Amino acid sequence: MPFIIDPPNQPSVALVGSDARFPVRRIFCVGRNYADHVREMGNDPKSEPPIFFTKPADALVESGAAIPYPTLTSNFHHEVELVVAIGKGGEAIDAGSAFDHVWGYAVGVDLTRRDLQNDAKKSGQPWDAAKGFDNSAPVGALTPEGSVDLKSARIWLSVNGATKQDAHLEEMIWSVPEIIATLSRAWALRAGDLIFTGTPSGVSALQKGDAIHAEIEGLSPLTFTIAR
Ligand code: MN
Repeated sequence: MPFIIDPPNQPSVALVGSDARFPVRRIFCVGRNYADHVREMGNDPKSEPPIFFTKPADALVESGAAIPYPTLTSNFHHEVELVVAIGKGGEAIDAGSAFDHVWGYAVGVDLTRRDLQNDAKKSGQPWDAAKGFDNSAPVGALTPEGSVDLKSARIWLSVNGATKQDAHLEEMIWSVPEIIATLSRAWALRAGDLIFTGTPSGVSALQKGDAIHAEIEGLSPLTFTIAR
């Protein structure tokens, strides 16, 4: 049966050392997963369960891109995050077997219209315009699970060579298996899903012309610029 318009392109992510691509179905994101960042946003890290939101899969951007400064904001923030790619779906996955569902890992940046997010929090409105806008999900190349040990890996991000965020993955309040266990009780996970796992402290505003370098020890770096 023919489609009446051209079907949309399949969003996908690059792989380290291969021309093949990882096709993306959904992008889930965890909020408030590093205590220092929870505090800098004015919340109590111990009092709140993980919160989830989503971005559209076609918000993905490749490493090396020039991202246009988005409309509707004058406080456009970076949030460096470990991204988990799901290779095998499931519902109500046990934390103990969660790594069996992971295809691999990448560095991502959860780009955020912070002014719109703050307004949404105050008025109890949804976060879509703050988090799920076009080009809001730069993600680097994926490294397969099992070929890298991320347990105590450093995660950091610099803007124009100045380090802004610098932490270790072991500082996450909710571990990758706990995130998968909790998330898969709210949504059925499927192969092709990505999970942004939250950001450490040090988020700050980006300007036109900025050059961003985001890295996690053992993974392929992610770099991009904000177009002038
Ligand atoms: Mn985030």
